[in-house]
Amino acid sequence: MRLSKGGGRAGEAEFRAGLRELARHRPDRAVGRLRKATDFCPASAPGLLSRRLYWLAAALLRLDRTELALKSLASAQKLRPRSIARQAYSVRVNPYGMPRRENPGLDDFYAFYSIHICEYLRRKEQPRFDTRQEKDAVVRLLGDSWLALSKSKRLQALGAGEKLRLFRDWPVSLPTFGLASADCGKPLEADFRRKTRIEGDDRCRCGSGLPFRQCCGRTNSPRELGCA
Ligand SMILES: [Zn+2]
Repeated sequence: MRLSKGGGRAGEAEFRAGLRELARHRPDRAVGRLRKATDFCPASAPGLLSRRLYWLAAALLRLDRTELALKSLASAQKLRPRSIARQAYSVRVNPYGMPRRENPGLDDFYAFYSIHICEYLRRKEQPRFDTRQEKDAVVRLLGDSWLALSKSKRLQALGAGEKLRLFRDWPVSLPTFGLASADCGKPLEADFRRKTRIEGDDRCRCGSGLPFRQCCGRTNSPRELGCA
């Protein structure tokens, strides 16, 4: 455990430096320090890691990087379900494990949008849009699909777990710009179904006490994945 011992000390120094940067109202510098502090954190110290992730989230929130902050808080609360990280997470998270928007309709839209954008980008060799035209085309098609789904009234009276299933199953045909040929279609469909089976309102298996859809099965935004 030589590595984690040395890493532990380096992590503590970075953590303190990060907190000092935050106190000096320099959250951009704090983020770099706190990120290193979490990277250096020994795996054998979940409480310590939870605390560092919490403060990383605090720095990210000050930079309005809400999606990344929520991702940090999601990890922090799993490690310590009774901590301040859990409270901070609970007040910001929507039923899909994403940052809460102004109204539930927007929460639904962003979940639908993120699920399909992320699946589209994951199918590419590089998970990003290559051109403005590609992005515009994908966004427009997703907008059309969302309108069709909204107009169908099928979302009414559904719970969040059922809505997630519908979002994934809703037919969306997106263009195939630059897809790796071996990767077209099948592997992702399989991935979708596997997720769907463990998705839902059940308690998360990690023991956090939250529904799976708000914890380990939360919906990632494209920004969180570093895709867009
Ligand atoms: Zn979990």
